[in-house]
Amino acid sequence: MPDHDHDCSQFLHLISDYIDDSLDEVTCENFKKHLDECEHCRIVVDTTRKTIELYHEADKEIELPADVRGRLFHCLELDAYLENE
Ligand SMILES: [Zn+2]
Repeated sequence: MPDHDHDCSQFLHLISDYIDDSLDEVTCENFKKHLDECEHCRIVVDTTRKTIELYHEADKEIELPADVRGRLFHCLELDAYLENE
């Protein structure tokens, strides 16, 4: 297991803001730094971005569907975090 699970849960919480480009500068830099080191989060960001783009193209709600979000979190073994939200 990677030793930065705690970081991951923090950053995953910010993914939609990151993709929307609405993070403050410092948080954004920290996020990018984490992405350099963490393949898991890179995959999640990539997948989330693609999902949002699909929704854009379909001219629907941009909000990440709950089931997709749930699958992503489950994939990263962060179910507990999701339930506590
Ligand atoms: Zn991570």
